[in-house]
Amino acid sequence: MACVFCAIIERQAPATVEYEDDEVIAFQDIHPVAPVHILIVPRRHIETLNDVTPEDVPALGRCLYVARQLARAKGIDERGYRVVLNVRALAGQSVYHIHFHLLGGRPFRWPPG
Ligand code: 5GP
Ligand code: ZN
Repeated sequence: MACVFCAIIERQAPATVEYEDDEVIAFQDIHPVAPVHILIVPRRHIETLNDVTPEDVPALGRCLYVARQLARAKGIDERGYRVVLNVRALAGQSVYHIHFHLLGGRPFRWPPG
C-alpha cells in the first residue's frame, strides 16, 4: 500500500492507536517532537487541505474534537497545546494523507520556524 497512513488505518502497518471511530483514527507519531505528539487522521485518503471537499467537513471537524478530547485525556488541555496541519512542501508536509498533529507537554514558540 502506497500510503503509510492508509496502511495503519487498514491495520497493515503497526501504530499505537489512541482513538478511533468510523471517520477518524488517532495514533502516536513515530518520531515525537514533544512529550505528547499524536496524529489525528480522517480515514478517507485526502492528500492535503487543498483537496478537501464539502463532504469531508464533518470528518475534519471530528478531528478537531478528537484533538480536544485527547488533550484532556493526556492532561495538557489546561496549560496549553498546539494543533498543526502542514500543507505541502513549504510547510514541511511529508505524508500526503491529511492529518492534524496534537502537540503538548512543552512550550512552543510563535511564530513557528
Ligand atoms: P507531516 O510532516 O506530513 O506534517 O507529518 C508527518 C508525520 O508522520 C511526521 O511527524 C512523522 O514522524 C510521522 N510518520 C511518518 N511515518 C510514520 C509511520 O509510519 N508511523 C507513525 N506513527 N508516524 C509516522
Ligand atoms: Zn492514505
